[in-house]
Amino acid sequence: MGVLPSRVIERKRQGRPLTSDEVTAFFQGYLAGEVQDYQMSAFLMAVNFRGMTESELGSLLEVMVQSGAVLDLSHLPGPRVDKHSTGGVGDKTSLVLAPLVAALGAFVPMISGRGLGHTTGTLDKLEAIPGFRTRIPLDRFRKVLERVGLAMMGQTEEIAPLDRRLYALRDATATVPSIPLMATSIMSKKLAEGIQGLALDVKTGRGSFLPELQDSLELARTMVGLGEGRGIRTLALVTGMDAPLGKAVGNGLETREALECLGGRGPGDVTDLSLRLAGEMLWAGGLVSSPEEGAERAQRALGEGKGLERMARLVEAQGGDPRVVENPHLIPEAPFREVVEASEEGFVQEVDPLALGYGVVELGGGRRKIGEELDLRVGFIVDVAPGESVRPGAPLGKVHAADGAGLERGRAVLRGAVRLGEAEPPSPGPLVRERVADLASAG
Ligand code: URA
Repeated sequence: MGVLPSRVIERKRQGRPLTSDEVTAFFQGYLAGEVQDYQMSAFLMAVNFRGMTESELGSLLEVMVQSGAVLDLSHLPGPRVDKHSTGGVGDKTSLVLAPLVAALGAFVPMISGRGLGHTTGTLDKLEAIPGFRTRIPLDRFRKVLERVGLAMMGQTEEIAPLDRRLYALRDATATVPSIPLMATSIMSKKLAEGIQGLALDVKTGRGSFLPELQDSLELARTMVGLGEGRGIRTLALVTGMDAPLGKAVGNGLETREALECLGGRGPGDVTDLSLRLAGEMLWAGGLVSSPEEGAERAQRALGEGKGLERMARLVEAQGGDPRVVENPHLIPEAPFREVVEASEEGFVQEVDPLALGYGVVELGGGRRKIGEELDLRVGFIVDVAPGESVRPGAPLGKVHAADGAGLERGRAVLRGAVRLGEAEPPSPGPLVRERVADLASAG
């Protein structure tokens, strides 16, 4: 490596621009073992404070995509589309929408991540299904995709390897909430998939990595620009994350809830957002003339059980027990469970997604250091939503823990997360705040 790693870090720390060669050499040096984890962590933290120029962002995206394979799936007899979320609490929509979209004629080659910070990840959720394998070779991924219409895996040494390492490092060093780092992490995976259409769910609000709407909009525009610039029909919905999505928070519990949604028995907010994003994916793939038409078709497919049927095929193809689809209770449950009740009367002012998300990490359902094994059974089922009124003794939710100490901690987390007050709070407003698409013609 021609440049000194410490000089590159210093320049970023000072907010001075880096050349394309410096960015490329620094990140390639990391892959080659010449830049160490501690140096990369320092650099990532500097990016969190200083950001990146457009040219630095473009160079980083290029190194990330080129660090592994870029799939050529042009032989598939249907459009290739995907969806990715910037991360929220209780967000399990990928597990609902991907099988629905596949059942409607698109191919979904989904490369996703593990839990990040206070949020759970699609891969960990899938691994809660007995036998389900997300660590599969690329040729197996291709075969599952051809046969089932969707396949799900994570970053590997073969595909998006640089994101694989940066993602794990950012999770453990509190360097997730950065617009350029999130944009390149997400878009490098999506560009490697060889897709034609992409729907992004950019979260905003307390439980997201970027609580301010302006920042979420900037991330949405950045990613839509990167996708469109590479010929992918890309759009983003900016959606509220001021309370958990659905009732379940925690890997296995969220997987169960997603399967319940596919069976038509899930919470309304999860189902609605999944259908809306499915509609956008079908539109981005050119299968329908509007996202609304796409959402209607997805709703019909859900009602006819087509998503559930497709999910069973995916589970079987990736080594899991397909009976889980009809019986989500086959997903192992934590041994210590307790209902937490309201001790006073009042209106629910807030259900703090951040407190619940970090609560799952504390209970063992999220990583404190790279590579840690998770307890996929732990988490919370939240029974109340902002604006509802409760009486003393009414259930606020249920803690699922591995042992007595976890139960005690979980009880405190749940009590702290649900804030009660006398006055009825204002309505939280619509879940979808903005839609960002078609930047070129928007001028
Ligand atoms: N999802 C990703 O894949 N990367 C991020 O940085 C955040 C969410």
